[in-house]
Amino acid sequence: MYDFLIVGAGLFGAVFAFETAKKGKRCLVIDKRPHIAGNIYTENIEGINVHKYGAHIFHTSDKAIWDYINQFAEFNNYVNSPIAVYNDELYNLPFNMNTFSKMWGIKTPAEAKARIAEQIARLNIGEPKNLEEQALKLVGMDVYEKLIKGYTEKQWGRPCSELPAFIIKRLPLRFRYDNNYFNDRYQGIPIGGYTQIVEKMLANAEVKLNTDYFEFVKQNPNIAEKTVFTGAIDEFFGYKLGELEYRSVRFETEVLDEENYQGNAVVNYTHRDVPFTRIIEHKHFEFGEQPRTVISREYSAEWKPGAEPYYPVNDDRNNSLYKQYEKLADERGNVVFGGRLGMYRYLDMDKVISLALDAVRQIQ
Ligand code: FAD
Ligand code: UDP
Repeated sequence: MYDFLIVGAGLFGAVFAFETAKKGKRCLVIDKRPHIAGNIYTENIEGINVHKYGAHIFHTSDKAIWDYINQFAEFNNYVNSPIAVYNDELYNLPFNMNTFSKMWGIKTPAEAKARIAEQIARLNIGEPKNLEEQALKLVGMDVYEKLIKGYTEKQWGRPCSELPAFIIKRLPLRFRYDNNYFNDRYQGIPIGGYTQIVEKMLANAEVKLNTDYFEFVKQNPNIAEKTVFTGAIDEFFGYKLGELEYRSVRFETEVLDEENYQGNAVVNYTHRDVPFTRIIEHKHFEFGEQPRTVISREYSAEWKPGAEPYYPVNDDRNNSLYKQYEKLADERGNVVFGGRLGMYRYLDMDKVISLALDAVRQIQ
């Protein structure tokens, strides 16, 4: 009946549907949630586009991907520059001259480098084996203790010494006065939110919401030639090799009767004793001037069956379990696994688009 059954109306599924529908293929897209767009879903509250599943800033160095996403929306010139709060101290992120100047009362890059080198020398670290060693080796003890340790341990629910080093390598380290969180050439927020993008991508596909794949496929086993699955790969196989670990996030969203709560879209709380990791004030992504404001506090939590899986925990144990699931997937054939959960990878939106375009190419 259909060429493709696409499970998940998130970014991967939507790009896949858009591209294959363009080639005349018939796609049915199902999602268990009551809305499209997966984790990039935005909802208008008080005239503000609220990022319901966490702050999403589009950034890429790939011009082709930037041009691709711009066909679906106009992007503004938002530049992500989070603030970190540690007790009563406020710092700029990512780690740059503004951060170092505030932390040590210094002015020049040479002074900052000397401070860091002096702290690193005392630590005697070889090739970093985990996130703690990687962070200490990059920025020394002060920045690690105040801006990394507490935040990371809240975020991942594990000691930094048990986390993979690559997580921290995502953050730029600069000896310039530059608070741009990303090094990418292109960055912005779609004016009017992300949901409209996915709506346009799905315009020529059939979409069924509130529909869980595992129930649906029992009733409709032969509905499509091929399946594209963007849910969790371990769930697809009934967890038969064991559960992959995920981190989940609980969002506490509030409408406040004031115009400007924190003066910035993203404020991280890096102290261990503050129970949430960050507060997002959504209006600032689009420079909003509405009379009220909407904020979301993010509480990180261990994932349990039934909760939303957000972040794959890519440590050695999980990566090798994933490899075994990937083997099952290859043996099974006829199902394409895609996206953050299907591929069990920490993927930004630009990578998801690029992988979905690859998947379409491979299917021809
Ligand atoms: P999803 O958006 O998760 O879509 C998968 C869909 O499949 C979901 O809608 C789900 O309901 C559905 N589904 C799952 N199982 C089933 C089933 N059994 N039956 C039916 N439907 C099912 N990226 C950036 O580039 N910039 C950022 O600033 C950024 N911030 C982020 C912040 C947070 C808190 C998180 C978690 C991620 C962030 N990302 C960011 C990454 C971004 O969210 C992903 O790259 C993107 O949303 C992945 O799209 P996807 O289609 O793979 O997955
Ligand atoms: N991180 C940190 N302190 C901060 C912000 C981030 O130590 O104030 C670390 C933390 O380990 C986090 C990683 O850097 O998991 C990547 O941060 P990013 O903001 O990219 O995470 P995401 O937006 O994906 O939640």
